[in-house]
Amino acid sequence: MKIAGQKESKIDPTLAEEIRQRCGENVFLCYQCKKCASGCPTRPFMESTPTELMRYLQLGMIDEAMKKDTIWYCLSCQTCSARCPQNIDIAHVVDAVKIIVQEKNIKVDTGNAKLFNRLWMTLLKYMGRMYEMGLTGMLNLFSGKPFKDLPLGIKLIKKGKLKLLPTIKRPFEMMKMFSRARDLKK
Ligand code: SF4
Ligand code: SF4
Repeated sequence: MKIAGQKESKIDPTLAEEIRQRCGENVFLCYQCKKCASGCPTRPFMESTPTELMRYLQLGMIDEAMKKDTIWYCLSCQTCSARCPQNIDIAHVVDAVKIIVQEKNIKVDTGNAKLFNRLWMTLLKYMGRMYEMGLTGMLNLFSGKPFKDLPLGIKLIKKGKLKLLPTIKRPFEMMKMFSRARDLKK
């Protein structure tokens, strides 16, 4: 597909079926009402909205679906899934797209969104809950700006809004959950 002034889109007609096999959701049920996008808390930061993502998946527009940063700004908050009049679990679809991108090792420029996602999951796996200070510190360190949020961090710690040390909660149960999820994938 080529539109004047735009680069050609790669089309994969099997994309919607792949999504259905991975998460059981039928993206063709989407009729573009935009209720998902209008309730999405991170939509203002995304290159394309969850509604547009659904359209790309319907049309098999693989680059648009996978290379834009939409999926990496998704918080899995489920607001879109709860609002969809067609009962599509859009958050689940987003997860399926994230998995495809990683399995196929598709190169995506997501700024730090992908790194953030990976660190977030790693902390959750080993600590059983979020450790904001560790997450921000590692994110800044791995993205080459170790002192970026230092002044803000000190201010927040002084006001008691940020904990210096992590709270670890049932880490072994969480690790078991992660390993069970990995086994289910095999
Ligand atoms: S689950 Fe993701 S896409 Fe859906 S509303 Fe929440 S942040 Fe937006
Ligand atoms: S809310 Fe459902 S039907 Fe409406 S645009 Fe989003 S996915 Fe499509």
